[in-house]
Amino acid sequence: MSMLNAVAISAHCATSATHVAIETVAETGSTNADLMARLGGLRGPLLRIADNQTAGRGRAGRSWLSQPGAALMFSLAWPFKGPLHKMTGLPMAVGVALAETIVSLGVPVQIKWPNDLLRDGAKLAGILVETQNTGNAIWAVIGCGINLVMPDELEARIGRDVASAPWLAQMDRNQLMAALLSRLAAVLAEFDDTGFAPFAERWNALHAWHGKEVVLLDQGAVVRQGRAAGVDDIGRLLLDTSAGRVEILSGDVSLRLIGTQLSGVQP
Ligand code: ATP
Repeated sequence: MSMLNAVAISAHCATSATHVAIETVAETGSTNADLMARLGGLRGPLLRIADNQTAGRGRAGRSWLSQPGAALMFSLAWPFKGPLHKMTGLPMAVGVALAETIVSLGVPVQIKWPNDLLRDGAKLAGILVETQNTGNAIWAVIGCGINLVMPDELEARIGRDVASAPWLAQMDRNQLMAALLSRLAAVLAEFDDTGFAPFAERWNALHAWHGKEVVLLDQGAVVRQGRAAGVDDIGRLLLDTSAGRVEILSGDVSLRLIGTQLSGVQP
């Protein structure tokens, strides 16, 4: 009963994405895990889309929850020239590609560093980028889940403020996927040539918490506090603290608006 169809998606794609192989599956554990396990055998970019994931993953072992048909969930395996250190900016470039596409389709979203998409301050989409050096290329598996509708029981399971996009849910899924893939493919090709620098300004134009007081959490503990000032040329978060400006490399840290971090994450 999948509404997704690889041939239809391909037909709607811009030339930037016509070389991407596409496959759909009704249900799987995690599209990211599926592609990570197959990297050794891939010869070019591959998009894998699932109507449902039973073990969707976020960063650092966190879960991405969904139910059939409620979200658009896909992973894209893509080979890069590298070097490896350049890849730290990739999640932020992916955020730009997806946010710009969603905005162009009429849904106002912004990016929370490093790469969540927020609508009215709540999480609409999550992005997970995993990389692996296979010897002849550096492969990234770029996973994304976008909430289209948010059934009450799913919201209760997630247990935090979440957003959805009924406007996008009304769109033809194949066309929606093609629009996202086309922009993503163009951004990835450019990123491989230039790195993150040309995307910094575009990211900053979409920054959800620009100028806001935030705290940085590492495993629930506050490690930094300051005013979010955007990203630099390699995608680091600039934080203006009482001790001056510091640059934060995306690791396993989470950002919260000040005053909101006490809900459940503090020991
Ligand atoms: P955070 O969003 O907490 O700052 P993060 O960016 O690392 O951290 P991800 O790893 O991208 O988050 O996503 C996992 C988190 O997203 C989960 O811990 C959960 O709170 C939240 N989540 C899970 N499913 C959904 C969903 N369908 N919609 C919105 N948020 C979700």
